[in-house]
Amino acid sequence: MKKLSRMALRFFNTLSEKIEEFEPLEGNTVRMYTCGPTVYHYVHIGNLRTFTFQDILRRWLRYRGYALRHVMNITDVDDKIIRNAMAQGKTIREYTAEYEKAFLEDATTLRLERPEFLVRATDHIPDMIEAILKLGEKGFTYQSEGSVYYRIAAFPEYGKLSHTDFSGQIAGARVDVDEYDKADARDFVLWKRRKDDEPYWDGPLGPGRPGWHIECSVMAMKYLGETIDIHAGGVDLTFPHHENEIAQSEALTGKPFARFWLHAEHLMVEGQKMAKSLGNFYTLRDLLAMGYQPEAIRYLLASVPYRKKLNFTFDGLKAAATAVERLRNFKLRLQTEPLAAGVSPEVSARTAQALRDFEEALDDDLNTAEALAAIFEYIREANTRMDAGALPAGNAAEALELLERFDRIFDVLRPGVSQAGISDEEVEALIAERAAARKARDFARADQIRAQLLEKGIVLEDTREGVRWKRK
Ligand code: AMP
Ligand code: ZN
Repeated sequence: MKKLSRMALRFFNTLSEKIEEFEPLEGNTVRMYTCGPTVYHYVHIGNLRTFTFQDILRRWLRYRGYALRHVMNITDVDDKIIRNAMAQGKTIREYTAEYEKAFLEDATTLRLERPEFLVRATDHIPDMIEAILKLGEKGFTYQSEGSVYYRIAAFPEYGKLSHTDFSGQIAGARVDVDEYDKADARDFVLWKRRKDDEPYWDGPLGPGRPGWHIECSVMAMKYLGETIDIHAGGVDLTFPHHENEIAQSEALTGKPFARFWLHAEHLMVEGQKMAKSLGNFYTLRDLLAMGYQPEAIRYLLASVPYRKKLNFTFDGLKAAATAVERLRNFKLRLQTEPLAAGVSPEVSARTAQALRDFEEALDDDLNTAEALAAIFEYIREANTRMDAGALPAGNAAEALELLERFDRIFDVLRPGVSQAGISDEEVEALIAERAAARKARDFARADQIRAQLLEKGIVLEDTREGVRWKRK
């Protein structure tokens, strides 16, 4: 397929509040940091919306030829973790291990690529202590009752990411919890003194544990350098978390911390943000137990452009399942239907146009909805052509290539393991065996295979063009 000159890759940057052309600062490698999960519970599909956006971002950067150096943190120490671990008589690591493992399993189920560096806060405590001491030397901290705080008044640019003027209200009010009122700026805790018999780390700052914000500054700069290309997370992290990361990092280095800040909007349920604290959440496991396919969930989470709110409904999830089925059926049709000989230049041009539309949509701040529209419009037209015998065999390869490129990003076509425990590959193998049995006039075996598949929720349909199948 020929490529015409195209518009550059561009993202909306929360820092500038503008769409900006993106290129990495150094060479061909994108240095990216994304805030990962707090492992005190199973992640919910709201969290997974943000992680799916980050996955689409990764994949699109690679599609455009960049190499990636991506760090994601695992927040494995905070107030809730300490509280829950103590209540269960476990160490922090014993307590978080289960949820960290569950997160990784969920990520795999949703086909989220593993970042190059997946790093735990608790593996970087000495680095954090060092950073806090350095901030102290530079005059950005003060101590109070054994805890160390960041003095926001010492960083005049505070507020530049969330575009808020905090100058009237930053006179030393302190906060030492990790979750607090997001309406006002407070001096935030860098090192929190140990209370009672809490687990703790010892060192020059005294017995305690790091605040949440310092972990991201420290781990980002440790693995990626002082100025990184992209920093991403959910929109609720803009303030105070990311604002605080900027305050810490830029106070330490005197250099811009991140060039591009990308924030994903929330997944909503009935007008409210899905949140653990509101109790209005579904985990991935909940939805799988209800019989939904991971690919349908992935499709749904990816289908709404990341800067738009995603209103979660079961109708929406069912529509996503149907969309995935349409995509797969089209692919199967291309692979199995006997097509007339020849090549149509018109079809070739149409396929190339669909690819251009798809790519341009994703270059445009990852407009996944437009990218999907380009593919579905193409599929609708191609199906009509096939019905009319007007999609010659010589065009099938390019149509399949279009699907392959689509799937490099959306990743919903390749076989998955269903709830019934049968993969698409296994289904296809049994269908082939059934075809062979029928050819050998062993109808008993053919019927047996059909029944066996039906038991696993797979319905076969014998059409003029061959066998089609779907999951019940
Ligand atoms: P947490 O585990 O609470 O630290 O959150 C992990 C990620 O999920 C962060 O980037 C949050 O911004 C994001 N997040 C939390 N709730 C939602 C939601 N309802 N929709 C989208 N992203 C969310
Ligand atoms: Zn973070």
